[in-house]
Amino acid sequence: MKNAKPDTTLVHAGRNPHANHGIVNPPVYHCSTVLFPTVQALEDADKRPYDGVRYGRAGTPTSFAFEDSVAALEGGHRAVSMGSGLSAITTVLTAFTKAGDHVLVTDSVYGPTRRFCTDVLGAYGVETEFYDPLIGGGIARLLRPNTTVVYLESPGSLTFEVQDVPAIAAVAKAAGATVLMDNTWATPLFFRPFDHGVDVSIHAATKYLVGHADAMMGVAVCTEECFVPVKRTANILGACAGPDDLYLALRGMRTLSVRLKRHQESALILADWLAARPEVARVLHPGRPGDPGHALWKRDFLGASGLFAALLHPVPKPALTAMLDHMELFGMGYSWGGFESLILPTKPGHARTATRWDESGPLIRLHAGLEDPDDLIRDLERGFDRMRAAL
Ligand SMILES: *Cc1c(COP(=O)(O)O)cnc(C)c1O
Repeated sequence: MKNAKPDTTLVHAGRNPHANHGIVNPPVYHCSTVLFPTVQALEDADKRPYDGVRYGRAGTPTSFAFEDSVAALEGGHRAVSMGSGLSAITTVLTAFTKAGDHVLVTDSVYGPTRRFCTDVLGAYGVETEFYDPLIGGGIARLLRPNTTVVYLESPGSLTFEVQDVPAIAAVAKAAGATVLMDNTWATPLFFRPFDHGVDVSIHAATKYLVGHADAMMGVAVCTEECFVPVKRTANILGACAGPDDLYLALRGMRTLSVRLKRHQESALILADWLAARPEVARVLHPGRPGDPGHALWKRDFLGASGLFAALLHPVPKPALTAMLDHMELFGMGYSWGGFESLILPTKPGHARTATRWDESGPLIRLHAGLEDPDDLIRDLERGFDRMRAAL
């Protein structure tokens, strides 16, 4: 249906049951070699390298189904899927940089993205400058004639600063730079990057799109202008996703809307409860009134997902570990976006260069899963009891 609402797109995109025996879900194509009946057919396929099926790495009906669904949902031209979120990030950054270029990257960026910029792009003669995520239109003074990319991530990894995406994108575009954004936290449902001037929206689909902690997947949704450079670079780098993981991501998307609403609701309940605790100095959650990013979040976002942080008052490490080592429901581990709740001690200060993180208390990142929030609160309450007993 033309102009369907996002929840409808989630259910119907990338499916064509009557082309497949009436079966509701699309088949999974396990594929490397694609056979051509004639030299003519082989040559024709090579003339259209980004359409149709010519080799497993270049795209299959399974990857196209997932990519078309994400692109339709987010309002981009086309998407390119890759085997992890980080692979999507590094592929896109590679596509838009060359030796001698200057790129501007938010200081609140996901850690491995920062390391790719400094260690890999740096070794190939691309200079990365990190900027204050709250710079807004002030980014104008950092732009140079050779600035080719401005990279955003909002809210920021670990510290949840909300960026003024339209202001940054407008200035960057006027200067001829390509605007890239990691939109993993909000998903296409809660932030519409193409309405705010972004050229390529990147997702760690590993998180909410897959949604069940059982596959790694990345996707870059592109404007028409940016699609070929990204797809071409993905091909050259050999960045592609496996068929079963693509299927899991597509399946995850069918329930994205209902899951995300529940993640949002539970995260706000937990955040409010934590904010009232004596152990907590402050909660970092842009969806809450009073958060420094709340006004921008309210202006630009359509919702808040389940990931946020709590800054605790300083405690000795054994008291912190007494809390975290024995949680019953909250698991401790990297990644997020699955159905389960997670808790993680983080250290954002380590990787900052343009801004500082001077807080002395521990910063705890939480992911509100789909459990009953009452039980999650009981788990946290017992954790605080253990913390106090260890003081
Ligand atoms: C997890 C994450 C990534 C990387 O995704 P992977 O699939 O783990 O490679 C990128 N950006 C953000 C914001 C993330 O949280």
